[in-house]
Amino acid sequence: MPTLPDTLCHLNGRTLPLRDAQVSVLDRGFLFGDGVYEAVPVYGRRLFRFDDHMTRLERSLSKLRIPNPHDRAGWLTLLRELVDAHPADDQMLYLQVTRGVAPREHTMVQGLAPTVFAMTNAMRPPSAEQRHHGVACVTARDFRWERGDIKSTSLLGNVLARQVAADHGAAETILLRDGWITEGSSSNVWVVHEGALLGPPRSEHLLEGVRMALMAELCEECGIAHNLRPLSEDDLRTADEVLLTSAGREVLPVTRIDGELVGHGALRGRPGPVYARLYEAYQRAKLDQCT
Ligand code: PMP
Repeated sequence: MPTLPDTLCHLNGRTLPLRDAQVSVLDRGFLFGDGVYEAVPVYGRRLFRFDDHMTRLERSLSKLRIPNPHDRAGWLTLLRELVDAHPADDQMLYLQVTRGVAPREHTMVQGLAPTVFAMTNAMRPPSAEQRHHGVACVTARDFRWERGDIKSTSLLGNVLARQVAADHGAAETILLRDGWITEGSSSNVWVVHEGALLGPPRSEHLLEGVRMALMAELCEECGIAHNLRPLSEDDLRTADEVLLTSAGREVLPVTRIDGELVGHGALRGRPGPVYARLYEAYQRAKLDQCT
């Protein structure tokens, strides 16, 4: 059994040890996965792109008709309290809001007090080895539901997808819906063709990562052409570079897919130049985009 972290958490207005936090078995998050979440990176004890995460939280909540229990200032106060109490300078904040506690019934019960939970952990960034050599991915059919745009705690499809990678000793599973790239089990997927960074367009089939807008900004800054357009399995397999982005992975190079090396010529199977520039730009953004 893994040992539980010995840290504080927030539950419904109270700060208490994570080990002691308890919710009702009738919480709709427990019974239905009826809730949403965010994972916010913290660098030097400050929250990275906080407003983007709040915008997405507000969007997820409103799509599920769950009232937002806090305004942005309220969220910031609550989250900063956890950050300040944690020993690490770089952390990953997790927050979740469920519809609340009610007798079990599928219909969205009105008038419930949402359950609010937040915790933070020391950041576990990708290893130097992963940055230097890139990571391996596998592909799988995207068998999840069609509302990947909602950052829902109903993650069973993503759990099943990630386990495909784990079973193959790979870092991530890249999902293909009808032959088109959607995303990874917990990341967005990018390919590089002829020097341009390409990602699949926003749709209900994938989560709009906070790093989607960030990648566009970093590409502008670095003079890298970029575009969102439908990307086929062939685009993936013939790419010069393949990248993953997420709060925890920042931007990470993929150098092997389904056992085949990514890229061409001397860079085959090695992280490429677009990755290197975006990684550098990302590190700069961390310094001046924190709240
Ligand atoms: N897609 C999925 C399914 C994810 O779980 C994540 C990570 N939250 C992402 C994309 C990337 O989003 P972000 O850049 O906001 O971490």
